[in-house]
Amino acid sequence: MRLMTELAIRLTAFAGMFLAMALWEIFAPRRRLSLRRAARWPGNLAILVVDALAVRLLIPTAAVGVALIAAARGFGLFHLLGWPAWLAGVVGFVVLDLVIYGQHVVFHRVPWLWRLHRMHHADLDIDLTTGVRFHPIEILISMAIKVAVVALFGVPAAAVVAFEVVLNATSMFNHSNAVLPLWLDRAVRLVVVTPDMHRVHHSVVRAETDSNFGFNLPWWDWLFRTYRAEPASGHDAMTIGLPIFRAPGELRLDRLLTQPFRTPANAGSAASAIESSTT
Ligand SMILES: [Zn+2]
Ligand SMILES: [Zn+2]
Repeated sequence: MRLMTELAIRLTAFAGMFLAMALWEIFAPRRRLSLRRAARWPGNLAILVVDALAVRLLIPTAAVGVALIAAARGFGLFHLLGWPAWLAGVVGFVVLDLVIYGQHVVFHRVPWLWRLHRMHHADLDIDLTTGVRFHPIEILISMAIKVAVVALFGVPAAAVVAFEVVLNATSMFNHSNAVLPLWLDRAVRLVVVTPDMHRVHHSVVRAETDSNFGFNLPWWDWLFRTYRAEPASGHDAMTIGLPIFRAPGELRLDRLLTQPFRTPANAGSAASAIESSTT
């Protein structure tokens, strides 16, 4: 019963947010997309299904299951300290967000992890479906890290579900092509990462790719000096994606899955060509 309720909450929140952001970016787009949705959406949505199945099959307890076990057996820092559930929940939420930020930075810095994560960056446009486009191995590693954090801290199950639902929703929001008036963007990005803030992270220029790592709370980027207010060439003129994997065929599910294991021959020259054309 509890599992069904949790699944219903996750699916309802996902469907509601997906629909809201899709309508927003269709009727009030931020920038002109370079490709039709039909070219990108099938691959991006198929990878979402593969990711969900991979986690359910390989880590069936997931982070929330571990939270329930930790609560029942009393292990984890918050249980040892005897903190009330609300305090453990709020602090647990913030700790999880910081860990996801740190994980994102590490996925950019460590070459073999970058191979997994670069598939997220190879999308040739950025819209709400980019927010669910992650390689299944990255998703599994990310879940294993979350499981470890939840067990170590004893994060309450409700906070784990809240964190995952919110992260899923904010990821679709800040990857969306929805327009936000500049004054509103400035206010919103004080508490949550906005589309204009995260779009910088999808720039083809490496220095911009390596900034704005936050997915949810924007504070970590300010704190750790990885914040960049906007792309050098502006939101309309900037090039989205990577210097590699730019052929339209790379948007297919099978190509997305094999990208981490392929090394494009022209990687170096393509990178310098795009860097020099955009600077
Ligand atoms: Zn990234
Ligand atoms: Zn992203």
